[in-house]
Order: sequence, then structure tokens, then C-alpha cells
Amino acid sequence: MTRTDWFDDAACRDVDTDVFFPTSEAHADEAKAICAVCPVREECLEYALDTRPGDGVWGGLTAPERHRLIRRRQKAARKSREARPAA
Ligand code: SF4
Repeated sequence: MTRTDWFDDAACRDVDTDVFFPTSEAHADEAKAICAVCPVREECLEYALDTRPGDGVWGGLTAPERHRLIRRRQKAARKSREARPAA
């Protein structure tokens, strides 16, 4: 089960949620600025990478940015597995 107690310290707790669900990528700057100073940014991002919400800014990244990060991590994990000598 994914923990969410980190949200108690979130910089966005008292911010209108609409800010975090911009109408386009180009309108995500306000949310990203708040995330940039959030003390639980890493926890938030990992939560979003685990639960994969389809939209919104989480941990400072938009959904397409999170999708690209997931793909980069998967590629790195695959390379790491391939680089290991066979047992
Ligand atoms: S990183 Fe951004 S979306 Fe996540 S808790 Fe902090 S302010 Fe909210």
C-alpha cells in the first residue's frame, strides 16, 4: 500500500486544486513553481509514478513528463539487467 502521510506537509495543501490541473502543458508553470519549493516533492513524485494519475501536476511534473520519466527508468533498469553477467 502506498503511503500518503507526506501530504500533511505539502506546499499545495491550501492552493486551489485547479492550479494543479492546468488546461494544457503551457499552463503548468504556476503549479511547477509551487512544487519546486515543496518539502515533499520527491514523495509526491514517487506516489504519482506508482499510482499513475492520468493528469495533473504531481511532484513538479506533468503527466507526459512523468510518462517520459517512467520510460527512462524502465530503459535504465533493462540496461542494468542486460549488463549483469548470467548466473
Ligand atoms: S510536489 Fe507539488 S503537487 Fe506534490 S505535494 Fe508538493 S506542491 Fe503538491
